[in-house]
Amino acid sequence: MARLDTILVKTASRCNLDCSYCYVYQGKDTSWKEQPKRMSLATIDHLVKRLVEQAELQDIGFAIVLHGGEPLLLGYNRLEYLLKSLRENLSSEDYPISIQTNGALLNNKFLDLFSLYRANVSISLDGDKETNDLSRLTAQGNSSFYDVISAIKLLQNHKDSDFLFSGTLSVIQLESPAKKTYDFFKSLNVPSMDFLLQDGNIDRLPKGKSSLLSTEYGDWTIDLLGEYINDDSPIRIAFLDDLIRLCLGGDSIKEGKGSQKYGILIIETDGEIRKNDTLRSSYDGADFFSIREYISDTSLNKVLQSEEFQDLSNLQCKTSDICNSCSYLSICGGGMPLYRWSDKNAYDNPSVYCSDHMVLIKKIKDILKDNV
Ligand code: SF4
Repeated sequence: MARLDTILVKTASRCNLDCSYCYVYQGKDTSWKEQPKRMSLATIDHLVKRLVEQAELQDIGFAIVLHGGEPLLLGYNRLEYLLKSLRENLSSEDYPISIQTNGALLNNKFLDLFSLYRANVSISLDGDKETNDLSRLTAQGNSSFYDVISAIKLLQNHKDSDFLFSGTLSVIQLESPAKKTYDFFKSLNVPSMDFLLQDGNIDRLPKGKSSLLSTEYGDWTIDLLGEYINDDSPIRIAFLDDLIRLCLGGDSIKEGKGSQKYGILIIETDGEIRKNDTLRSSYDGADFFSIREYISDTSLNKVLQSEEFQDLSNLQCKTSDICNSCSYLSICGGGMPLYRWSDKNAYDNPSVYCSDHMVLIKKIKDILKDNV
């Protein structure tokens, strides 16, 4: 029986930044334009009802992630309503709430609210000003860097900082060497950092990747690994910890690696239940279920137990013949579906990052062989 692991809630369908790599606003899919700008109180009520209903059906909890667009655009009052309603029904131990924000709108009033209802905050930031300005600008072309740094300072100075500030999330910018990026986040003294690959697929190579066989991202992440393991007091890097754990025979804790499947659903601002929205970069409408369902009249469990969700879930592990005979499959998992897309074979390809995954996994295995 499929279960819910993560519910990603689009509290706002717009953003106060205009990042050049954004899969929501810069991609082929323009359905966000038809979404209400903010989730209504009625939709919040339906959402909470559906989550409580789902919690009663599962014997383990699930993560609730507030996302956007920019989730703080929901506004203080509605965020308070949402968080209060969630926490009145779902405990912070079993149903962690996290907020992925660009930080530009963050203030102490928000932080006190998040502290009260036990919601932690991850800040999106790609690196120092020069690196961050490569993609993360406002619609007017202005830098967002100093606003984000102010948000990080607010988080660090809050009395509940240890709980509130979970870390930073960056998209890898090859223009900035891994050492420079690692040193920058170290100097900021963030509690953890994590990195995403640039969007791309077999038909559309990611920025800075010259061919399917090239290893620019593999080389960058190997450099990052070097900084990480040679640091006497390292700052946690989640994706590297995940890969190291997998190489040691353990499990991944996040989709996109290993062989575990995760039950992930998205709720749009109008209450529509969607597939993982990273699929949007494949083709227009890739994240729509064939029958459009809304939380106002459909339970999450009905969608989770549907054949289409089963197919979606299998997609996380369904891999090409090349992957099935690859010695790294149990660690790599074939890569996230969005990176495997081609118009010709759909998702039945190795990841566009296959060569990068191979060199990084080989490096980790070599290091473990010499040290464990
Ligand atoms: S390394 Fe490449 S071939 Fe091997 S499982 Fe990953 S994507 Fe597939």
